[in-house]
Amino acid sequence: MSPQPLEEDEVEYFHPNDFCFLCQRLLYDPIVTPCGHMLCKPCMVDNALGSLPSPVWVVAVHEDPTNTLPVDRLLRRLSARCPVCCNQFKDGVRTCVEKCADLRAKYPAAYAARADAQSRTEAGSGGDSEVERITMCVGNENWEIQPPPGSSKTEKIHEWSFFAKFSRHDIIEGVTFAVLERGTTTVRQPPYQIYGRDRSTVIVMASVTLKDGYIWESEHAVDSLDGGYKRMVLVEWLMAWDDFGGKGCMG
Ligand SMILES: [Zn+2]
Ligand SMILES: [Zn+2]
Repeated sequence: MSPQPLEEDEVEYFHPNDFCFLCQRLLYDPIVTPCGHMLCKPCMVDNALGSLPSPVWVVAVHEDPTNTLPVDRLLRRLSARCPVCCNQFKDGVRTCVEKCADLRAKYPAAYAARADAQSRTEAGSGGDSEVERITMCVGNENWEIQPPPGSSKTEKIHEWSFFAKFSRHDIIEGVTFAVLERGTTTVRQPPYQIYGRDRSTVIVMASVTLKDGYIWESEHAVDSLDGGYKRMVLVEWLMAWDDFGGKGCMG
């Protein structure tokens, strides 16, 4: 029997440490989890996005959301379950630049083939992908104001604003803000923001509804008030006067 020509991946022997548990191929652009497991970066990203629909991180109040996925920032702060050992970690994952260089040197042909396949995958999922990404930042600002004449001097009064910002507006149907004991306000055009004046802590609930035809790819998604399947996500926000800041949430 004459030997069959080898497939590209079989030309070189991969050490088990150079293998990705998830995709069962040569590690590509490796990252390491706090529990010490090494995976391809794209495998970790796919897994994290699949299991963690709304990674949340704190952003500056005036930071505008961008539509580019901040993959490296997400990975550095990632809180997720390790896909290999199922340990929960919250300290992010590290990229392994040296390991990457090592893999390139050890398996030049196979690594080049991996890179090529990866860039084709990314190109293919760019334009006509069914999953689109949107970054949402929610937060509040508040400032103390002079109490009206005659009121108790010890009581502090704050004016506040609560906002939701998005990396794109074309798929947002509207944002409904509910402030306890004050009812709801729906804003259908940017800026999605409400203002108030209060003496004590305020709880704001914001629900973000997508336009008809879109659903949130998130386990926190609920049906919209008009019955649209998974078209709404809810954010609950405690506005305390010593807390000045914003937080971002990506879905
Ligand atoms: Zn992999
Ligand atoms: Zn692990």
